[in-house]
Amino acid sequence: MNVLFAVWEIDPFIKVGGLGDVARSLPGALSQKGIDIRIVVPFYRAIKLGNRKKVHIGQFKVKYDKVAETVDIIQVTHPYSGVPVYLLKNNTYLSDVNFPDTFTFFDKAIINCFFDKKTPFTPDIIHCNDLHTGLIPFLVREYDLKAKTMLTIHNLSYQGKMPIEILNKMEIQQSKCKVLEWEIKSKQVNLLTEGIIHADVVTTVSPTYSREIMTEEFGCGLEEILRGKEGRVFGILNGIDDDWRNLMHAKFVKYPFLTPKKQDVVDIHTKIYQWEEGKGFNKQHLQKKLELTVNKDIPMIAFVGRFDSHQKGIDILHKMMRRLDLQKYQFVILGTGDPGWEERFQWLDKFFPDSVSVTNKFDECLAHEIYAAADFILIPSKFEPCGLIQMIAMFFGTLPIAHRTGGLSDSIQDGINGFLFEKYSSVEMERVLMKAIRTLQKHKREYRKMVEMAMQTDFSWNKSAKEYIRLYNLLLSR
Ligand code: ADP
Repeated sequence: MNVLFAVWEIDPFIKVGGLGDVARSLPGALSQKGIDIRIVVPFYRAIKLGNRKKVHIGQFKVKYDKVAETVDIIQVTHPYSGVPVYLLKNNTYLSDVNFPDTFTFFDKAIINCFFDKKTPFTPDIIHCNDLHTGLIPFLVREYDLKAKTMLTIHNLSYQGKMPIEILNKMEIQQSKCKVLEWEIKSKQVNLLTEGIIHADVVTTVSPTYSREIMTEEFGCGLEEILRGKEGRVFGILNGIDDDWRNLMHAKFVKYPFLTPKKQDVVDIHTKIYQWEEGKGFNKQHLQKKLELTVNKDIPMIAFVGRFDSHQKGIDILHKMMRRLDLQKYQFVILGTGDPGWEERFQWLDKFFPDSVSVTNKFDECLAHEIYAAADFILIPSKFEPCGLIQMIAMFFGTLPIAHRTGGLSDSIQDGINGFLFEKYSSVEMERVLMKAIRTLQKHKREYRKMVEMAMQTDFSWNKSAKEYIRLYNLLLSR
């Protein structure tokens, strides 16, 4: 079975969020189970390939906006999984992300590349991811190609609405697109909607989110279209890599405390600490680095994630922090996004330099130092398709305190390996945070048991990979 995994970001070459993590790990897990899977991404200028061997395997033309654009195909091997990655290079559209053309051009280029025999690999299934590859299922039908398509929705709130003229650039006749009709009336095309309508199956990244998106509250206006696909929408929970190389545990965490598995490549001189001791040292190291009061007994509460007030709950986090006596705790916050919110959080950092640290940049090293050091991580997302942060944090023995929604409720068991609050409100979050801090300070045994449960929770890709394979088989059997 040949599967092409089409995606706009992939760690460690280029990553802006959780999708980059998924693109790094899921194809590797599928490949280990015998699927011949290849990945295709745009060759952006910002892509970092290090000293990877690059092989130029071909060149082809894509007709776009009346010009025959040249696209080069460069093949590299993914450093962790060994899966082949095709990078499509075109200086006009693919070297930077420019809305709206980059993704529509990318989608058309993928079709030309893999179905006009420009590579020896012809996919049976194209596994598309999010709006960036949303037109592929439409193009497969338009050109009557043999491949089946799966669209995985990683976040329904990003849909890619763009002027209808984009279809002319792609040489798609508007009149031929019957299903696009209602979009034509609004003079807009919505890439994700097209993907949902035309894909053979749609998946989301957690079972709860796959049910939530059928409702008006979470459906982002697409709930009726999704309900129309009933029976062809599935929820498969994401996983994380639990080996040392991929989490870069050994590289970024000063006092490693995770037990390496047999297959992990670990320097024999690396000292592995017992988790409680290791976490304590990492906490003091981070306190020094961020110029906070150095004291391992102060509860350290973290937040890592995009500063997106529509999704990530930074509004209720800020509200709660303004109410708390911040001298009693330490808040370590890492995230970039909305400049207005960045500024508001920076004020807290300024007024409470010993107990609040706010870093507004993308910093993988600091993220891992935080996961390894903190006692708790707050994930107050209003909605969360899956969320990887809680899984990575739990892997490092940091208990999540999260809103019960989407993938958070599928991956956290309240009172067992983390804490969940029911209602999206700063008061509810504060109540549960105080309960968690009491557990840390007054019920040490229970806290230790929860941390150990969190660290042992199986978030490996193994189970999810099996479910994807079941769906791939279902697609091919139809
Ligand atoms: P989303 O994909 O919605 O952004 P996820 O929880 O699925 O959220 O994944 C976020 C990923 O991005 C995690 O690997 C997390 O460690 C990483 N991340 C988010 N913000 C930052 C940041 N500022 N610096 C470093 N890593 C970050």
